[in-house]
Amino acid sequence: MNGLELDISGIRDTKGASVEAELSGRVGPVVAGGEKVNIDKPVRLRVMATNTGSRILVSGDIFTSVELTCNRCMEPFIFEISTSFEREYRQAAQARPGNGTPGAEGDAPETYHGDVINLRPAVEESISLTMPIKVLCSEDCRGLCPKCGHNLNLGPCRCEKEPDFRLAPLAELLRKEK
Ligand SMILES: [Zn+2]
Ligand SMILES: [Zn+2]
Repeated sequence: MNGLELDISGIRDTKGASVEAELSGRVGPVVAGGEKVNIDKPVRLRVMATNTGSRILVSGDIFTSVELTCNRCMEPFIFEISTSFEREYRQAAQARPGNGTPGAEGDAPETYHGDVINLRPAVEESISLTMPIKVLCSEDCRGLCPKCGHNLNLGPCRCEKEPDFRLAPLAELLRKEK
């Protein structure tokens, strides 16, 4: 059990039946901005599963967050993950009793065995799709000064050659006083 397994015993044999559940569990690392990052917090999952006759249709909302490091200013920040998925599962071919191991022929994500659907592969895939290619703490992150390494989000540094915009109001004031 990884926590992201849905018990469908109540709807498995009844066409049209559905079940709702709230699950919570761990997922593996994801890739953000070319870096592998661990998701330390458990993923919360709200799902609804419906027996459509030949399949079980599962839709779910995924919530978690991960700490990323901004590619521009190098500061860690929390990236909120909120996404959803929808997937169909069919029952894996039944292994006859005493004839091999059930499930040995592969654990394709779209099949399930017995009364439980493992949603973890679908959840991991959906989370991966929401991860940014370019990791920025904010769209207008000012980054670091290339000379002194000062985080420019915290204000300008002293090695700026450009006229300091903070002095502009003062210059304005001096001009008016003339
Ligand atoms: Zn940043
Ligand atoms: Zn500087």
